[in-house]
Amino acid sequence: MRHFKYTSELNALISAPAELFSESHPVKLGDIRNTIINIRQQPIRCLSMIGNSERLLMNFIGTESVIEICQRDIESANDSLLALDQYENGDISRDVLQQQIVKSLNDFRANSTDFELPVEKTVKFVANFILTIIILSSVVVLLFAVFISRVVSAGLTSREEAMDALAQSEKRNKALAHTDTLTGLPNRNLLEHTIDKAINMSERSNLPFAVMFIDLDRFKDINDSLGHALGDKLLVTMAQRISKAIRATDVVVRFGGDEFVAVTDCFKSIETIDLIAHRVLDAIGKPVELGNDILKITASIGIACYPQNGVNASLLLKHADIAMYQAKHAGKNQYQATDKLSAIKQNRKLKLVNQLHHAIANNELTLVYQPIIRLVDGVTVGSEALLRWTNMENEVIGPDEFIPIAEHSGQIIDIGNWVLQQACEQCKAWHEAGATHHAMAINVSSHQLKDQHFAQRLEDILASLSLPAECIHIEVTENIAIMEEQACVTSLYRLSELGVQLLLDDFGTGYSCLSYLKNLPFDVLKIDKSFMPANNTIASTIIAMGHELDMEVVAEGIETDMCYAMLQKLNCQYGQGYLFQKPVPASEFDIYKHYKCSVPEAVE
Ligand code: C2E
Ligand code: MG
Ligand code: MG
Repeated sequence: MRHFKYTSELNALISAPAELFSESHPVKLGDIRNTIINIRQQPIRCLSMIGNSERLLMNFIGTESVIEICQRDIESANDSLLALDQYENGDISRDVLQQQIVKSLNDFRANSTDFELPVEKTVKFVANFILTIIILSSVVVLLFAVFISRVVSAGLTSREEAMDALAQSEKRNKALAHTDTLTGLPNRNLLEHTIDKAINMSERSNLPFAVMFIDLDRFKDINDSLGHALGDKLLVTMAQRISKAIRATDVVVRFGGDEFVAVTDCFKSIETIDLIAHRVLDAIGKPVELGNDILKITASIGIACYPQNGVNASLLLKHADIAMYQAKHAGKNQYQATDKLSAIKQNRKLKLVNQLHHAIANNELTLVYQPIIRLVDGVTVGSEALLRWTNMENEVIGPDEFIPIAEHSGQIIDIGNWVLQQACEQCKAWHEAGATHHAMAINVSSHQLKDQHFAQRLEDILASLSLPAECIHIEVTENIAIMEEQACVTSLYRLSELGVQLLLDDFGTGYSCLSYLKNLPFDVLKIDKSFMPANNTIASTIIAMGHELDMEVVAEGIETDMCYAMLQKLNCQYGQGYLFQKPVPASEFDIYKHYKCSVPEAVE
């Protein structure tokens, strides 16, 4: 801008007259000199400012011509100043001076015009640069804003997702806590709540409802023989069948293992539970295909009704469980309902279970012995060890009452082991006293036979006492349900291999099945006392059958001479009963006693 100003000033100084230095119009040479110096000062200042970085920038923008223009201005200014000096010294003429100054002015003008381009370029560059900076920074700000908003929204959505996932998993956990993962049925955690709900309904409607304890028979054997995968499949199938068999308003819960509990809706007629129980048994009993096998499964059901059999969930469950065990004991594949009487019995059972825990330690158990007589000559050939329990209250409790309780509670194993040890020791003592062939019959519960260590335990006892195995007679009560279990069968064969005699006790009272008589290694049949006094077809048939199967026969419950004579006639080999001797403690037992039948003629 200054350059233009001084150039136009110079122009004004020299352009007014036609001739620069005419006499009519003298020119102030000093003013011209000052103006030219001013013109020259601008580029000098400019050039003095330009360093390497500016040069680089000018290169970059393409305005390096500025330097050249500045140099051209300085040159022109120098030429004019030189001409002024020369004129003042009289070296050149006025015309030459005029030409030089006019030429310089033209140069200045041309340079000014040339100067416009780089200035424009620079201005444009600066403008573009600032614009770019603004745009770039806006873009950066924009991107940053987008980034921040993305991050924030991602944070928000992931927080929402996390909250959702948390809610879902909480829901799932809640459902899982109440669902059996295998069968999809509600699990036992929901049972109390379900029964409580049913109790409320029952209270409102004044109608009873039932709790059914359903236990699959022999599931453990199936599971062991087929493997757990098929066992699980079976459970799922059974769960579905039970669910279908009950009404929509009833609830079935997997209680655990192979146990299910159904809680029925309130009913008007008691027949409803019979109907449901039948339907469940039928549904379970339908053939089921498992792997390559087609199996027939059965179940035992115990039923307890509210309010008759229990006023709360735990009592109802307890009584249904007991009834289920009764159903099992009675032969399985059936249902049993609890009644009031059995609830009272149950309380006594519970008391006995608690007392039984200390029975061995407190020396409350004893064995009594009843002689076994060879009927043909009345000789005592052995004895049966019978268990007696006198509890802390000095009450004598019979084995018929406490053995089933011990079987149910599992205490039978310890008690049975104690009996085994005592009876073998007593047998040894009598052998040492001279009765070297005395046989000891020991009652063994089928629950003991399920224990796979049973035969080994007996073998160990015999070895420790050096007692021959033939002297030991193991009496097993006929129980088809249990004897079909593989573990029992295995124990029976191991015992037989050991050399002990196997007796089938109480024969004729259970569900006698001739096939397992033939297939299991029993040596002796023991006719139940209920068939005495033997003048009946059952007794004679059993004895004949025993002979037919090459088995010896023992008759129990001989109370009269007549009965004795009758059995002698039927060729029953052995017998025991009050006629000969009631069970007595070992100290009162006469190992050498002979008995004679006094009325042989009564048989005729
Ligand atoms: P069981 O093995 O059939 O024993 C015979 C039962 O008949 C005994 O009853 C015996 O006292 C009784 N008895 C003997 N002779 C006569 C008679 O002439 N008339 C009558 N009416 N009864 C007679 P007990 O001692 O009460 O035993 C009952 C059942 O308890 C036994 O029946 C047996 O199954 C079981 N038991 C006894 N001791 C044991 C044991 O140590 N372990 C196991 N698991 N069960 C045992
Ligand atoms: Mg017996
Ligand atoms: Mg018996």
